[in-house]
Amino acid sequence: SIVVTGATGQLGRLVIDELLARVPADQVAAVVRDRAKGASLTERGIQLRVADYNEPQTLADAFRPGDTVLLISGNEVGRRTPQHTAIIEAAKTADVARLVYTGVLGGPAADFALAAEHTETEEAVLGSGLPHTFLRNGWYTENYTEQIPVQLQHGVAGSAGEGRVGSAARADFAAAAAVVLTTGGHEGRAYELSGDQAWTLAEYAAELSRQSRTSVAYHDLAPEAFRQVLVGAGMPEPFAEILVDVDVNGIRRGLLQGGSDDLRRLIGRPTTPLADSIAAALKG
Ligand code: NDP
Repeated sequence: SIVVTGATGQLGRLVIDELLARVPADQVAAVVRDRAKGASLTERGIQLRVADYNEPQTLADAFRPGDTVLLISGNEVGRRTPQHTAIIEAAKTADVARLVYTGVLGGPAADFALAAEHTETEEAVLGSGLPHTFLRNGWYTENYTEQIPVQLQHGVAGSAGEGRVGSAARADFAAAAAVVLTTGGHEGRAYELSGDQAWTLAEYAAELSRQSRTSVAYHDLAPEAFRQVLVGAGMPEPFAEILVDVDVNGIRRGLLQGGSDDLRRLIGRPTTPLADSIAAALKG
């Protein structure tokens, strides 16, 4: 089977849609921690395997010999290396055919804080000796467009300076994953996945202004001021620090700019333009 972890998450659901457009449902299995949340997957004919990344014993039955596994990285920052390591070990024990991992653009060259767990995971995959493919995902455009209601009121805040973000829509990354899971020739490859255009936060604010007919400014803040904005908006301190670090040590230094055409080549079409993602978000 093709097995997708994190299948009830935002990226995972889109990967499932893309897989069902390519292969019969009985060839697809989903690893979920919440069986009830996976009910819509069962309705579509997908086999559910219930497991929690935090409970390695539950992973024992998640994989079968010959499976092709997509490990979608978890969302509990700080706990992900042991979680991912447990999944890799379970996949190895089950003797899966290939493990595909969604890491971060640049792989080991991404030296900002949020990327560390992805590097550690790639190392664990390499150490396992499993046949593998790395999908090094750049930023989702939705990281920004999900904030549009706040941005229309307060502008766009950041510490990224003139740094460029080569983002793409989640759906673009999902399509790439489905291609890599359902076709051959990807073993041992690391794909650097980014959008066709890379934009600055000032350009993002200008496009949002144009489409919303509202004046939206980009406020380029000192790191400490940006941290205070995030904490003031209710973000836990440790995560605010990580997001400031993404801007200062990631985007500003060009590490999330991208520039390869791996994503558009894999999906066989241009990536979703920023303007389209903004338009979709404004429509709701
Ligand atoms: P989501 O938070 O929507 O999905 C995360 C998925 O992981 C969910 O299905 C969740 O399960 C599952 N999960 C988390 N913890 C566990 C656990 N302990 N056991 C089993 N399953 C677990 O994130 P997205 O789909 O938007 O993104 C996928 C991943 O990409 C993120 O988890 C994160 O690592 C990374 N990411 C990348 C970004 C980028 O811009 N490139 C931005 C944000 C995140 P459940 O459905 O039950 O909650």
